[in-house]
Amino acid sequence: MFKKFLRLLAILVLILLAIILINTFRNRPWPERAASANFPRLPDSAVMHLSEAVQIATISISDTSKIDTSAFLAFKNFLAKSYPLIHQNLSLNVVRNFSYIFEWKGENTKMQPIILMGHYDVVPVEEATIDKWQVAPFSGTISDTCVWGRGSVDDKAGVISILEAVESMLRQGFHPKRTIYLCFGHDEEIGGRGAKAIVDFLSQKNIRPQMVLDEGGEISESKIKDVKRPVAVIGVGEKGYATYELSVEKEGGHSSKPEKESAIDILVAALAKLKNHPTPSRITPPVREFLHRVGSSSDNFVNKMASSNMWLFEGIAKGIIESKPEGNAMIHTTIAPTILQSGIKDNVIPSKAKAIINSRILPGETSETVAKYIADAIHDNRVIIKKISVFESDPSPSTNIESPAFKRVENAIYENMPHVIPTPYLMIGATDSRRYRSISDGVVNFLPMIDSKGYHGINERLPIADLQRSINFMMTIIKESDADF
Ligand SMILES: [Zn+2]
Repeated sequence: MFKKFLRLLAILVLILLAIILINTFRNRPWPERAASANFPRLPDSAVMHLSEAVQIATISISDTSKIDTSAFLAFKNFLAKSYPLIHQNLSLNVVRNFSYIFEWKGENTKMQPIILMGHYDVVPVEEATIDKWQVAPFSGTISDTCVWGRGSVDDKAGVISILEAVESMLRQGFHPKRTIYLCFGHDEEIGGRGAKAIVDFLSQKNIRPQMVLDEGGEISESKIKDVKRPVAVIGVGEKGYATYELSVEKEGGHSSKPEKESAIDILVAALAKLKNHPTPSRITPPVREFLHRVGSSSDNFVNKMASSNMWLFEGIAKGIIESKPEGNAMIHTTIAPTILQSGIKDNVIPSKAKAIINSRILPGETSETVAKYIADAIHDNRVIIKKISVFESDPSPSTNIESPAFKRVENAIYENMPHVIPTPYLMIGATDSRRYRSISDGVVNFLPMIDSKGYHGINERLPIADLQRSINFMMTIIKESDADF
């Protein structure tokens, strides 16, 4: 009897193993494509233009009264001087003084328009880091391989690539069939009121773009282990954003005779409970597709086997993804304390303690469900939980990977890089494009830079090869938008 059972078990294990191996070997690496496009060589003026754009310090500061508006005026003059054909052939509308909507009218007004967008404001450079920069942050230095400076990547790379592509196509006498809007926000880094005004403007004119292309995703050559091919991650959705205040009030007193628990103790215990109860992991559809495409092309047999048999190995796959902060953020709603406040003097036990926690929310949840999750995890009614977010947004719906918007980006990146693996992914930060979801279900986030360097940090710089590729990419998108998807 026992022998029979053992035999049966062995047969079952063999069958299971056979299924796993068959699935693994049938899961072919994601296909490559033959490139067909022929691109003009990058003109020196494009590099000069990016350098000039970086030299104009269009810095966004939360206290808007401190913003140097003369820089924004200078940027406007720079655009007029550097892109004369765009200013002659496209109509321009300005909203909130410095956000721009250029309209390049298509021959066929029945076709849904597309939007190419970006932002030209930049984050400040931290005083304390200036001596760590190899060049002055707003010098726009051009070295053999790179254009250096704040904004060279985020997001003047995007803005200049769009403008260079359009100016060059106008020079060649190109007329688009489909209307193309170029939209540039001036305050993305402090919430994007410019983008909101642009969307209001378009929405009043009943414009429903088929595609909205913004910054966000890029090409990874080194970040994904065991995959030798470059991976183009195309943002198709954004996590939500919410901030909460946890506060505790309890009579304080002299620190020479402390009570068993103070306001600080209660708050710290609540934060510890939150830390020990991370939200459950969940693989959303874009992340599942990412694992499928990238996993099938992995040189690591175990990773390939896991991604080919997610029905069995999902738990293990999650464990691997969670081990890195970026991966963890892809499959969890994250909750992180960012500010702690309490106390005024070393010998006084304070009667109030306060913590601010910031959450980035996975699609399928809302700021309300997260608030309930926090309350349940803390389970202490002495801790008052209040939502205080100014930027609050629930997670966006995801753009379909069968949509013309996604397909067009996929095609355009293949044209520029035949051996790339294009894949959808979930953006963990917020961009201006989230505003456009109210007028379009084709929002996609991508610019073909490779492992971009230094944005929001030190030594921000854009390789000239990335600028060339980004301009080519924009030209491909514009040409392909003529097809009636
Ligand atoms: Zn940006």
